[in-house]
Amino acid sequence: MYEIHFDPIDEVIECGQDETILDAAFRQGYNLVHGCREGQCSGCKAFLLKGEVSLKRYSSFALSDVEEEQGYTLLCSAMPDSDVDVELLHFDPDDYKLRNPIQSAVARVSLVSKLTRNIYRLALDGVEPELSFVPGQYVDLIIPGTGDKRSFSIANLPGGELEFIIKHYPGGRFSGLLADGGLGIGDRVELLGPYGAFHLRESSRPIVMIAGGSGMAPMLSLLRQLRKEPSARPVRVFYGAREKQDLFDMEPIVDLVGDIDDCAFVPALSDHSGDGWDGAVGLVHEVAAAGLEAEGITEPDLYLCGPPPMVDAAIELFSDRYGVPDDRIYYDKFTTAADVAR
Ligand SMILES: Cc1cc2nc3c(=O)[nH]c(=O)nc-3n(C[C@H](O)[C@H](O)[C@H](O)COP(=O)(O)OP(=O)(O)OC[C@H]3O[C@@H](n4cnc5c(N)ncnc54)[C@H](O)[C@@H]3O)c2cc1C
Repeated sequence: MYEIHFDPIDEVIECGQDETILDAAFRQGYNLVHGCREGQCSGCKAFLLKGEVSLKRYSSFALSDVEEEQGYTLLCSAMPDSDVDVELLHFDPDDYKLRNPIQSAVARVSLVSKLTRNIYRLALDGVEPELSFVPGQYVDLIIPGTGDKRSFSIANLPGGELEFIIKHYPGGRFSGLLADGGLGIGDRVELLGPYGAFHLRESSRPIVMIAGGSGMAPMLSLLRQLRKEPSARPVRVFYGAREKQDLFDMEPIVDLVGDIDDCAFVPALSDHSGDGWDGAVGLVHEVAAAGLEAEGITEPDLYLCGPPPMVDAAIELFSDRYGVPDDRIYYDKFTTAADVAR
């Protein structure tokens, strides 16, 4: 076991040589900021102040060779070869401890329903042991009959069933089970969690949510939380899809948003050709930027979720053009095996 010292929070954990620093931190009750946990998204990038690590497979997009030479590393890939001092680049000083333990659980499928041509709702009940989580977090579902897992954001609130919104990818090993009936009512599913640092932060600034496709899943959880625990903050929700037929659950979402004070919902289509759409058109982050500018909302807290290119484009736009600081941008990128392969 090696000692890992985290700066600037001045905490120390132990980490085995064949364990990643991120996993060791989870095991010891720390919820360090992270994304895909597969070396693809750079969410857990940190700086090595002292010591040596070996890196598991990662993408040079998440960590370039130059960055690695300079001393940057990815905590989800780094396994120590000595005692190590790490500087955390992204951390929330009030929120780096796990609020709920990460545990293994089992559950039964209680619902699989097709919402659009490629989006499904999956619900699990009888979760044993019961899972406590913070709205916005995700769990890993084990692909039945394998040890492999996929991450899915929980779309509802804690207590009872777990609801997921899942996009079907052609050839997708988990999502394919929803599309081809491989997972049905009563089937047993193993899960691990909760994970993630995507949850509402306290502040008085407007809350702006930008989601692409199934990226609406954790937003639904946050919106349900805001309905249950009203706040005085304006809430703006931008939801991007390709075509009108790709928007799911429009009526329930409009109802949910209608129950929250000063909350507006803007669906935006990137391709509206020929479907009689009279709503917003364009890439969802650009529609959001224009909408916020028109309203004079200049200092939002941003919550982003969806495909990595959408999240990256939104971060770039809002930080470069609008100067929103990094520590007011919270996101989960829905990376897939295809991203990992790339
Ligand atoms: C924190 C987090 C939260 C997430 N939450 C959600 C959520 O709420 N909803 C949601 O829909 N998704 C979510 N995701 C994405 C999800 O975890 C899966 O990646 C996604 O559902 C695809 O899994 P799959 O098993 O269906 O497909 P996979 O088997 O992983 O395949 C995905 C696609 O990649 C292709 N592919 C596979 N291997 C290769 C390869 N070697 N080369 C090229 N292409 C390949 C497949 O053909 C398929 O089209 C989340 C991801 C993260 C990291």
